[in-house]
Amino acid sequence: RAYLDRIEAVDSKIQALMTVTGGVALNQAKKADAILARGEGHPLTGIPIILKDVLCTKGIRTTCSSKMLQNFIPPYDAAVVERLHACGAVIIGKSNMDEFAMGSSTENSAYFTTRNPWDTSRVPGGSSGGSAAAVAAGLATAALGSDTGGSIRQPAAFCSVVGLKPTYGLVSRYGLIAFASSLDQIGPFTKDVADTALMLNAIAGYDPRDSTSVPQPETDYHGCLGGSVKGMRIGVPKEYLAQGVTPEVKAAVDAALKVYEDLGCSIEECSLPTTDAALAVYYIIAPSEASANLARYDGVKYGFSYKETDSMWQAMEKTRAMGFGPEVKRRIMLGTYALSAGYYDAWYVKAQKVRTVIRREFDAAFERYDALITPTAPTVPFKIGEKAADPFSMYLSDICTIPVNIAGLPGISIQGGFHNNLPIGLQIIGKPFAEKTILKLGHAFQ
Ligand code: GLN
Repeated sequence: RAYLDRIEAVDSKIQALMTVTGGVALNQAKKADAILARGEGHPLTGIPIILKDVLCTKGIRTTCSSKMLQNFIPPYDAAVVERLHACGAVIIGKSNMDEFAMGSSTENSAYFTTRNPWDTSRVPGGSSGGSAAAVAAGLATAALGSDTGGSIRQPAAFCSVVGLKPTYGLVSRYGLIAFASSLDQIGPFTKDVADTALMLNAIAGYDPRDSTSVPQPETDYHGCLGGSVKGMRIGVPKEYLAQGVTPEVKAAVDAALKVYEDLGCSIEECSLPTTDAALAVYYIIAPSEASANLARYDGVKYGFSYKETDSMWQAMEKTRAMGFGPEVKRRIMLGTYALSAGYYDAWYVKAQKVRTVIRREFDAAFERYDALITPTAPTVPFKIGEKAADPFSMYLSDICTIPVNIAGLPGISIQGGFHNNLPIGLQIIGKPFAEKTILKLGHAFQ
């Protein structure tokens, strides 16, 4: 009730939420109360949680912040939603996002732009900006987002909360509306690392319904927190502190590295030379996969359907012309171009080869280091409208996060301080399935 009241009081200023579940949430909360009264339950029982509107929720509208899915009510819950329900968590709302998770500011939502709670003239980051802003503004204890190229970590940095992108395959994507299937992962937003670990305990785990799900031994991510980080080896890839990183962000990273040094970690500069190709690789692979995934929106199977014509082709064309926003159309065009005959080898296959090079450079770095530390984003949150007209400058805001998805690694963004009251995020990157290591390091910093 208190969280619903808080939403009522402040969300008109933040505009983080697409849907508030009100009565449904209160019913779930009553059940949670009963479980807790019996002395049973899980650490998440009764905890209010907000879901990015890209996650299917049975009986609750799921829009992807697109006109295409304006009235789409899924007949099933995503795997992560089932898992949260099994813990007794209470889903209190669905959050605004860039349409189909394409963007870095929520300005690509077909409905409205979410505001950064620290400065409402600025963006909360994206594409999971609604989830990050909701946690920062105290609209829920935790939220889930999805991260294809930075969409959890960058908004976490912009809103001064913690955001984790797990290793590709650790969390089931069943019921996550796909953007780029080889890059997408679901992960939590919380105010601190301990809560992120509790959320990961709840959502991680093998699921045969996601063919890329990887069986892992049952792990208590919360239990591993605390204790010394002395002797841990931290690499600092120099390419991440180069182009476009502002002096205040660099100063925050330097200050954090000093803290780790004082905690007994060894800090060493290293190089991941192919980093500067990551953005180009991403903007071939992600749009290619997106163009295939979005082919299902034909006006027949799901969502919006243009019906004022007898022609099947015209119905399909109008449905897509009216249902998708400009950024989604741009991605579809890029993707279909890169996949078309004659260009496939030159663009798509080449991008896949460079992807392998990037992955191998990380593998080599992780032979020497337990974790890598970088900025999460090159700048503090920017003004609403500042980059909206220039897609390329918007794409650059994910320059530090995209390589992590390309290599399928886990990455966490933690609070790295403020500059002129604007948040700065610190990114810790780990080996595949080394969530424990990056959580432990993040927790030690906090
Ligand atoms: N901003 C990047 C994009 O627009 C990443 C988005 C994401 O991680 N979903 O594609």
